[in-house]
Amino acid sequence: MSSREFVLDYLNKEPFPDNIGQVAIQLAKGSDHSYNAIRNVFRRLRDVKVISNDVPSVLYYDIETTSFGADFGEITCFAYKWEGMEDVKLVSVLDYPEAFDRPVYTRDREVVAELVKLLDLADINCGHYSSKFDNKFVQARGSYHGYKPIDFRTSNTFDTCITARKYLRLQNNRLANVAEFYGEAQKTSMSKQTWRLCNDYNKEALAEQGEYCKQDVRALYGIAKRLFPFTKHLPNLWITEETNYMRCSNPNCGGVLLEDGEYKTKANTYQKFRCVDCGKWHRGSTPVMKLSREFKPAY
Ligand SMILES: [Zn+2]
Repeated sequence: MSSREFVLDYLNKEPFPDNIGQVAIQLAKGSDHSYNAIRNVFRRLRDVKVISNDVPSVLYYDIETTSFGADFGEITCFAYKWEGMEDVKLVSVLDYPEAFDRPVYTRDREVVAELVKLLDLADINCGHYSSKFDNKFVQARGSYHGYKPIDFRTSNTFDTCITARKYLRLQNNRLANVAEFYGEAQKTSMSKQTWRLCNDYNKEALAEQGEYCKQDVRALYGIAKRLFPFTKHLPNLWITEETNYMRCSNPNCGGVLLEDGEYKTKANTYQKFRCVDCGKWHRGSTPVMKLSREFKPAY
């Protein structure tokens, strides 16, 4: 029985658990499935809404704020999309009317709580300039409201802006420009006046900002798909207990790898592989040659 069938079997009898970690520990104890495998299946079933544990949990997201600093501004809304989800979703302060009665700087509590919950579930978080802005802003707002720290690391963060800057040479790396370059949905811009009204918590302006935010995530998803094959720092999430053969490490791909040339370093030579689907390069981990340790004088 696969981990997925095991979890589905459990869900036939019990309601979906609120605390996935605790339940996964309990279930793992009395079974031959690992805690990680069970937890991952729960995570995907809960939020991806695609009944599949074959896809890494990649969260694409974008936040809108009232200021550039988290000690001054709040998060008015965020849009997100899980890999495999049909369209983007929006969580806005407009969903929580009671927040409008609270004093300034405490109104984003529910919005931040939702975002922290989603980011905790993500194997990889993806945003445009998110490693410098969105991730840190959420971390700060979450910390302010007393939530536990989010596990942001270089190895689980995919920043499309930094990736474009590193591997491509465009005139600038703003989302609109990179999206236009790849022919992705062009975002309409919001007027300065609307921004000012949003900072004032004007409901109509906030609704407009929400649509703008959703567009950004659609554009983000479009460019992320094009930029994933360039990345070298992300872990391979495709290799699990059930699929423990060589697969492309691109979280958006997982394709088959074919041998393609050699990768030489100062110390040794390794097999080079290329994904047949996205073209991403990979390197084997065991050296092609076994070097002799025998001492041979050079003269
Ligand atoms: Zn690939």
